[in-house]
Amino acid sequence: MAREIAVLFVVNATLLTMPARQSTTSLAVVTSRFRLGEADRVLTLLSPSRGKFKAIAKGVRKPSSRLGGGVEPFAEVDLALVPGRTFDTVTQVRSVRVWLGLRSRLSSTAVAWYVAELVERATNEEQPEPDLYQLLLHAWDLLEAGAPDWLVARWAELALLDAAGQGPELEVCLTCGRAPIAGEALRWDDEGAGIRCDSHNHGGALSSDALRLLRALRRYAPEQLVALTLPGGPQREVGGALRSAVTLLFGAEPKSRTFMDEVLAS
Ligand SMILES: [Zn+2]
Repeated sequence: MAREIAVLFVVNATLLTMPARQSTTSLAVVTSRFRLGEADRVLTLLSPSRGKFKAIAKGVRKPSSRLGGGVEPFAEVDLALVPGRTFDTVTQVRSVRVWLGLRSRLSSTAVAWYVAELVERATNEEQPEPDLYQLLLHAWDLLEAGAPDWLVARWAELALLDAAGQGPELEVCLTCGRAPIAGEALRWDDEGAGIRCDSHNHGGALSSDALRLLRALRRYAPEQLVALTLPGGPQREVGGALRSAVTLLFGAEPKSRTFMDEVLAS
C-alpha cells in the first residue's frame, strides 16, 4: 500500500512540474482542409521541417477571424502553433509567399492542387521531406510564371517518382537489358515500371518520340523545356505512361486527377 501511495505521489509530482504547453512555429503550406463544427477548419499542412501534419484553425470561417485569409491554399505561411491532444491549434499566421497568379487560371489551379496531392501523399506524418516540399514550390513557381500546365504536371510526376526511388526505367529494356536504338518503337510496362523491346509483346505501344520526351523531362530543368513544342501524340503517350507509374506508386489514382484531366482537356 505504501508503495502505491509513493508511486502516485511521484506521478503527481511529475504532472505538477510539467511545463505549460509550449508554442512552436513552423513554415508550411496548406495542401487540404475541411470544415469542422460551426466555424473551424482542420488543415493538412506540409512543412520542410515537420513533413505532413494536421492542425485546427479555430473560428477561421468567421468574417472577424484574425487567421482568415492566412490559411488559404497556394500560400506559404509561418504558423504559431500550440500542441493539442490530437492536433496542434493555429494561433497566429504570417504570410510569407502567395502564388496569386495560379489562382486566377482554372487549369493552373487544377495542376497546382494535383501536384500538392502528389507531394502530400508521398510525405509521411511528422517526417521532414524538404526535397519534396521544394518540388511542390517549384511546380507552383512554374505555373505562376506561365509554364504549360501539362509540362508542369508531367515534370512533377516524374520528379516525384524519381525522388521516391520509383522512377521508371527509361534507358534499357526491363526484360533483356538492351538499350533501344534511336527511332525504335517500344512498349511501356502495364504497371508503369519502364520500357521494353517490342518483341517481348508485353505492355502497350510507346513511340520513340514519347521516350525522348520522358528522357528530356528527367534530364533537363523544366525551365529549359517550356519552349518545347510537341505534337499531341507523344504528350498523350507520356501522360498515360506516367499516370500508370503514379498509380503504381500510390496504389490508387490521386483524387484530383480526374478534375485536372477534365480541365486540361477543355
Ligand atoms: Zn528487351
